[in-house]
Amino acid sequence: MRVLVVEDEQALAAGLRKGLEAEGFAVDLAFDGVDGLWLVRENEYDVVVLDIMLPGLDGLQVCAAMRAAEIWTPILVLTARESERVEIMALDTGADDYLMKPFSHQVLVARLRALLRRGAPERPAVLASGDLRFDPAERRAWRGATEVTLTAREQALLEFLLRRAGRVASKREILDHVWGADFEGDPNIIEVYVRHLREKLDRPFGLQTIETVRRMGYRLVVDES
Ligand code: CA
Repeated sequence: MRVLVVEDEQALAAGLRKGLEAEGFAVDLAFDGVDGLWLVRENEYDVVVLDIMLPGLDGLQVCAAMRAAEIWTPILVLTARESERVEIMALDTGADDYLMKPFSHQVLVARLRALLRRGAPERPAVLASGDLRFDPAERRAWRGATEVTLTAREQALLEFLLRRAGRVASKREILDHVWGADFEGDPNIIEVYVRHLREKLDRPFGLQTIETVRRMGYRLVVDES
């Protein structure tokens, strides 16, 4: 089994190579995202171990570029610290599993073997509520058969509401997930973006699916029509 390890910490990369070779893997190393992407385009790997924080292209960009190029090799991403957002983003961009550093060698090998058993992944799932759909990998949204163009921030807000469909998303949660926990601007920015989404995804279709829940937040109601 041939594995590509993309990791810029050279000591860690060398340790991974040694350990994986001892388990019978053939190992190639890349120390930045650009080289990593070049190698996966040129060679056929059975699995890729991809660090998130990389010079050049970061792991998420490599992951997205691989999937955009229809390279479906299973990917295990390495994250430097527990960050739900990074992990969710990694899985959305087409990674199959993630492991938080520091990790034990046995756990890494077990996860790689599990990925190899599973084989190449399906395309990431499209999020949907009623006839509203959003493809997190391609960043495209549709109402019914109509594709709707959204800005990056509108996409992020829609994605968060879709992941919470039917449940209330509080303003705090929306700020944390869509704008980032360190956002210090006016929280009323959410209303502005909710209005944009309503004007693009509801009003032209005669719908009211993005509900304001007084003093709490917003809820995407499932359109039963
Ligand atoms: Ca790194």
